[in-house]
Amino acid sequence: MRRSFTFLLRPTSKQAAALAQCLEDHRQLYNAALEHRRTAYRKAGVAVRYGEQSAELKHIRADDPGGQGRWSFSSQQATLRRLDKAYRAFFDRVQAGRTPGFPRFKGRGWFDTVEWPKDGDGCRWDSRPEHPTAAFVRLQGVGHVRVHQHRRVLGIVKTISVKREGARWFVVLSCDGVPARTLPATGAVAGVDMGVAWLATTSDGDHLDNQRHLAASASRLAAAQRKLAGKKRGSNRRGKAVARVAALHAKVRRQRLDSAHKAALALVRGYDVIVHEALNVAGMTRRAAPKPDGEGGYLANGQSAKSGLSKSILDAGWSAFLTILSHKAESAGRQLIAVNPANTSRTCSRCGHCGKDNRVTQAVFRCTGCGHEAHADVNAAINILRAGLALREAAQAA
Ligand SMILES: [Zn+2]
Repeated sequence: MRRSFTFLLRPTSKQAAALAQCLEDHRQLYNAALEHRRTAYRKAGVAVRYGEQSAELKHIRADDPGGQGRWSFSSQQATLRRLDKAYRAFFDRVQAGRTPGFPRFKGRGWFDTVEWPKDGDGCRWDSRPEHPTAAFVRLQGVGHVRVHQHRRVLGIVKTISVKREGARWFVVLSCDGVPARTLPATGAVAGVDMGVAWLATTSDGDHLDNQRHLAASASRLAAAQRKLAGKKRGSNRRGKAVARVAALHAKVRRQRLDSAHKAALALVRGYDVIVHEALNVAGMTRRAAPKPDGEGGYLANGQSAKSGLSKSILDAGWSAFLTILSHKAESAGRQLIAVNPANTSRTCSRCGHCGKDNRVTQAVFRCTGCGHEAHADVNAAINILRAGLALREAAQAA
């Protein structure tokens, strides 16, 4: 199994300056490579590929020994590959008939990660094993940086990344061969509905992880972004506003991960089989359909949960939750089934009657066929469970 471990770094002030410079040089490399691709295409209609840009690196490093030449060749390649990935994703979306945004230049504060694709190549985890009490990671051009290692690392370290969040630095280790810790069978199965007020609601009627704190952060973030928009480029106040937005983004990310971990853990402890909605375009549109009852109006600023920022935060929350759930389920030996969410929220879980009038409000489901009344998310979760079990039966019969 692959798994990642994130630890806080405790760089000296000199190391922190070097880390900032390392990040900045990688950002400039990224932007230069993007500029190169755009110019070649605009002027000559030529598509520049990763291989060519990677071959250029040797010269870039030789020409700038005190700058780009300081850092790891491999981490620079990883940065070029990151741009390549952005390009591929862009063209994939174009092919799928969507209109994505073109890969963008990364401004200061919008490039926060450097990856070393292989432990031992320009970086070394546990670089001072002789040290009796502290853990270190060695990064080329930065030195042995102290790590606040609050838990044991399992498996074999494959890639090492450094990430900046506000004023803090983290190291992320991606490890292979992490042993699974299978949980004892419970004999229970559950369907899970992902929602707005609660991250997840089970077919047994349990609500997992209230999203109110996330909504509060979302409205603070929206306010900070509005403030930022009014500041003049290059001004001191703008710098502060950018930092505030970045810090709030980081906070939302932490809350979201924390929330997802808690909910996922509760599910894998409780159930052998967990059925959830497949998170795809159909699922998103279902959630985004306008409802006259002002659904989602619980957000502190009165903004609809379906609009702009709040929606993107919710979407990201659901996808983070599913990623974490799938890792935990795999580790625990639980079965995870994804089903098409179409109609799960408007179908009666008792009689099967399907109609949009069934959904009275965000929270209340009342069947116009049989009169069955239930919490809307619980009703949906039961439908999701049923669809999953049907899929599973069909797969076993085949
Ligand atoms: Zn009914």
